[in-house]
Amino acid sequence: MHEDVTVVAGGGGFIGGHLVAHLVDQGRRVRAVDRKPLNEWYQVHGGVDNRTLDLQQVEACRQAVDGAGEVYNLAADMGGMGFIENNKALCMLSVLINTNLLLAGREADVNRYFFASSACVYAADKQVSTDVTALREQDAYPAMPEDGYGWEKLFSERMCRHFREDFGFTTRVARYHNVYGEHGTFDGGREKAPAAICRKVVQAKLSGHHDIEVWGDGEQTRSFMYISDCIDGTSKIMDSDITEPLNLGSSELVSINQLVDIVEEIAGLKMKRTHLLDAPLGVRGRNSDNTLIRKYLDWEPSVSLQEGLERTYRWIHDEVHATAAAV
Ligand code: NAD
Repeated sequence: MHEDVTVVAGGGGFIGGHLVAHLVDQGRRVRAVDRKPLNEWYQVHGGVDNRTLDLQQVEACRQAVDGAGEVYNLAADMGGMGFIENNKALCMLSVLINTNLLLAGREADVNRYFFASSACVYAADKQVSTDVTALREQDAYPAMPEDGYGWEKLFSERMCRHFREDFGFTTRVARYHNVYGEHGTFDGGREKAPAAICRKVVQAKLSGHHDIEVWGDGEQTRSFMYISDCIDGTSKIMDSDITEPLNLGSSELVSINQLVDIVEEIAGLKMKRTHLLDAPLGVRGRNSDNTLIRKYLDWEPSVSLQEGLERTYRWIHDEVHATAAAV
């Protein structure tokens, strides 16, 4: 008989921190595991077995999943385009985390295992236009994912599938599309577009220099999912019978310029934009086709970008101001 411990690998990270909070709210016994020292975790929740372990090591994975009923693997070396385009080997090394967690999870007779995959598994040639056709799950093949990070995600998805097919190990996979919200990275080089833009606008307001650097011409398109939708969708996919990877993303498509427009409106500020044409950009356009998740779960992300950005902006505003006051 298992003790009912739910493990969140990557619990010191952005999505992991929110997932731990959600599981605690549900009354679960939770163990959060991350490589970072505790003082660098985005959120530390009381009543949780918080552990610092490097999950690239199989022995650490064994300790992490000891007595676990469910494991959520959200641990990965990752960041926005600026990070993943320049750190492909580090991104690929996350393959050790998922592989060793699967091995340890199977040994420990874990009941259910979740892997956080990414929209970066999709073939680049299906994302060359800003006027996108939303990506369906089947578009991941024939495979030509994002170099480094995307290949690791696709390989790890398949590893989950083979553990399920060959060993009867229950795995679930979600392909996250750009997640944003409070308690995540907003500076330092790993941040993604929504947080980076909020931070730049807050800093511009604070300094009185109303200039902003935008990566590319700003016409590249994306969808962005607010963190509460990500957590709801992750729980629903984990608890479901759906064995194939499912898109988990918003289908509200915007250009990066429109994203800046929204943040400017929230801040009540107009910025002078400089476009950095040689910055790392990723694909030209990407959206999530939510037909499958609607069909299987009768649900899809629904928090509007306006609403999610208002909350995110407010949080980053307070963080930047607190730091400025401390120096
Ligand atoms: P994050 O960087 O905030 O969290 C990942 C955590 O994993 C970090 O705290 C990091 O310290 C930890 N980690 C890295 N290597 C580790 C190791 N060897 N052992 C233990 N912990 C380790 O990122 P996030 O945004 O919370 O992403 C969570 C998951 O979702 C990742 O797998 C990521 O690839 C995936 N994902 C995120 C997004 C997004 O937009 N945020 C999009 C697609 C997929």
